[in-house]
Amino acid sequence: MSSSTAAELIARRQRALGASYRLFYEEPFAPVRGEGVWLYDKNNAAYLDAYNNVASIGHCHPAVVAAISEQSALLNTHTRYLHPSIVEYAEDLLSEFPPQLDNMTMTCTGSEANDLALRIARCHSGGTGIIVTRWAYHGVTSALAEVSPSLATGLPTASHVRLVEAPDSYRRTADFVASVKAAVQDMQAQGIKPAALLVDSIFSSDGVFSPANGELAAAAQCVRDAGGLYIADEVQPGFGRTGGQRWGFARESVIPDLVTLGKPMGNGHPVAAVVGRSALFDQFGHQQRYFNTYGGNPVSCKAAHAVLRVLREENLQANARDVGSYLKEGLRKLAERHEVIGDVRGEGLFIGVELVADRETQAPATVAAAAVVNGMRRRQVLISSTGPMANILKIRPPLVFARKHADLLVERLDATLNDLR
Ligand code: PMP
Repeated sequence: MSSSTAAELIARRQRALGASYRLFYEEPFAPVRGEGVWLYDKNNAAYLDAYNNVASIGHCHPAVVAAISEQSALLNTHTRYLHPSIVEYAEDLLSEFPPQLDNMTMTCTGSEANDLALRIARCHSGGTGIIVTRWAYHGVTSALAEVSPSLATGLPTASHVRLVEAPDSYRRTADFVASVKAAVQDMQAQGIKPAALLVDSIFSSDGVFSPANGELAAAAQCVRDAGGLYIADEVQPGFGRTGGQRWGFARESVIPDLVTLGKPMGNGHPVAAVVGRSALFDQFGHQQRYFNTYGGNPVSCKAAHAVLRVLREENLQANARDVGSYLKEGLRKLAERHEVIGDVRGEGLFIGVELVADRETQAPATVAAAAVVNGMRRRQVLISSTGPMANILKIRPPLVFARKHADLLVERLDATLNDLR
């Protein structure tokens, strides 16, 4: 796209869509085609996608394209008619979970999944209180905006919400479990009954953290003791991204009461779900009905089933583990030469690179992070940043990312960091 055409489209977009719509990058990127880990612009220039976790098995994977087109040429309805696709998918998906998690409800988005999970938790507990991390993001509905402080000011937005510290393995200034305990006590002191602890198992918006062994289990126990549920938001880490396990929560022995899924589940097709203990779904289902017009339609189920099969057939979780540790090694080598890299962390192909102005004080290098994200985009590698100070590079490519792609990313990051000096 010539820069004048791009500028014109940006202006029209702003006029038609308004202020909520934000674009990535100083120089917005306009892809027209995707394949595997690559996105192409209209001049056929290839950009290495190290950011999109939705197209998790690779952009436009032929198995998903075929599943969607075959089923949409045949029938697409809803879950009030009997169709095997949702049953077959549910049985297969549930086989990927501990046996206690034996029911599933399908939705269209991660937000709808989290929203439903909160309703189930409130129904079960009789409480309203929700505990989330200080810079959490859980979705777009009114209920979820109240528990997504990263959307705006970072401050609590409702009296039933308590914010807790993420398990920050770099700064180690706060204790996740202690802050969950304090949140439960504070709620109870104010006469608010806890309904749920809702946490992203990789703490992506908080800055990409992995809790130490036992931390999630201890936090979950604390909320359960107060009558609430532990909901694992797996919209980001789920479906093998963390390499060592299918689901982020499974790095520990703790089993959540409810698990929410989204993004990678349909490789770009909007499909999401809540998985959990059938006793909870029964209790909720006997009190109120849930019908989602598009959730669980045959096309979505076929798309999601194709994703699950490809994940297994192409061994993508093992690839995430292998290439993820190879990439982290490469990034750590870069840290030997670039003082601005304070920490390299993450699991599998979900990596955070924290940039700091000073390694001693760990002062966040927010401006440098923005320069790196934009510099990488100019070098045709797509990444972004995360965390309350947006100083943590977020590297989260499709799971078909190979070692040669990791090499390319490291080489271009090296050049981009050299430009900062
Ligand atoms: N939870 C987490 C952790 C997310 O990152 C997101 C999306 N970024 C959501 C929930 C909401 O998913 P959706 O955009 O599909 O509604």
